[in-house]
Amino acid sequence: MHSPFTTPIYLMAKPAGPACNLACRYCYYIDKKKTLGHRSSSTMMSRQVLEAYVKSYIEAQPVDRVMFTWHGGEPLLRSREFYEEALALQRRYAGGRHVDNSLQTNGTLLSDEWCRFFRDNGFLIGLSIDGRAAVHDRYRLTATGAPTSDSVLRAVEMLDRHGVEWNAMAVVNDVNSRDPLGFYSFFRDTLGCRYLQFAPIVERLDGSGRQLAPFEPGGEIAPYSVDPIEWGRFLNTIFDTWVCRDVGEMFVQIFDSTLASWVGLPPGTCVFGETCGHSPVMEHNGDLYTCDHFAYPGHRLGNILDTPLIAMAMSHRLRTFGADKRDSLPSRCLNCDYLHLCHGECPKNRIIPTGEPLAESQARSDNSSVSDPLLATPATRQSERMLNYLCDGYHAYFAHSAPYMRVMADLYHRGLPPSAIMDHLKHNPI
Ligand code: SF4
Ligand code: SF4
Repeated sequence: MHSPFTTPIYLMAKPAGPACNLACRYCYYIDKKKTLGHRSSSTMMSRQVLEAYVKSYIEAQPVDRVMFTWHGGEPLLRSREFYEEALALQRRYAGGRHVDNSLQTNGTLLSDEWCRFFRDNGFLIGLSIDGRAAVHDRYRLTATGAPTSDSVLRAVEMLDRHGVEWNAMAVVNDVNSRDPLGFYSFFRDTLGCRYLQFAPIVERLDGSGRQLAPFEPGGEIAPYSVDPIEWGRFLNTIFDTWVCRDVGEMFVQIFDSTLASWVGLPPGTCVFGETCGHSPVMEHNGDLYTCDHFAYPGHRLGNILDTPLIAMAMSHRLRTFGADKRDSLPSRCLNCDYLHLCHGECPKNRIIPTGEPLAESQARSDNSSVSDPLLATPATRQSERMLNYLCDGYHAYFAHSAPYMRVMADLYHRGLPPSAIMDHLKHNPI
């Protein structure tokens, strides 16, 4: 079958489903066992699902490079044999395409053997780490409450020693957001990290402490969530350091994405895209969902064992989910100077009611008769347009970075590296 797409499909796969050896206190995935394991009690991907996935994922790509992304839960709960099998299947079905692999891990199960395997097979490793020990161990704990920072630091040392390429993914929460410079310096100077990604955490809890799904109304903001104003300060403080000394040396995903939008390139991260629906997730049992944050039954697109991936990726449900991001924006976003950069960010974080009605076609409820709120998953959550909880922070960041971004965009359009801004600023401070 030939791919009907013009751009690559990115699919995140969950080889161990939601299973994890840790129990990070803010994790949005732990409770998913309840809704995701409905085909079998195991959350481990079978050989049958693996083969169907590898074959159809490669088949669906319109380009010569294919990126496999292994995610969790904790994907290192699978054995090396599982990944060797995956690599063998990739070779069998590659059909001349180049295949890359990336894997996101909490790092605590890494060993020299794993590192050798990753290096020999060219894996890019994403390491989840929230900052120095006191910060990291605030929420990234085992189920019994034991800290994990020592084993994550050991993971960094092993990855470096074996020459494995890695980048850091930090969840920005109520604690680490208050010390942006200490945070940034830890990654840059202590860890020697060169690729850094932030994931601001916004969750709501019901009265029993259960995290609410994105489409469930109400609840209270979870105490570990990042405050919108702090989020803006955090970004701006790090940006000020980065733009004066680290452009081209330290790759901070949100800054790179913002610059990409300024120069007219795709932002490279879904949260700043105009629409969603370009990065569905596949669970251990082969079920495909619209997005990792919407892996609930109402967002299920089908199963890879029954339905070709191409058909699910072209489905009306996925296209509607994608368009809803754009079509449900509130007036504040529609009138915002930075809409072209922000696009209202991630719909998961749009939880502030505006009182502005949605178009009737969007305010539907696919399973409204189901009593369990996790099973009643309307494609759009509410009947009104919702504002992003982090809006004030994003607005502050886009406004603050705009004059610098304009200079870097101008340099880029003149064929010069954006890093030339660092010299420019010495003579022309903004
Ligand atoms: S819902 Fe959020 S995380 Fe999911 S595709 Fe859209 S922007 Fe990305
Ligand atoms: S900064 Fe706020 S108002 Fe502007 S597009 Fe983003 S979420 Fe909407």
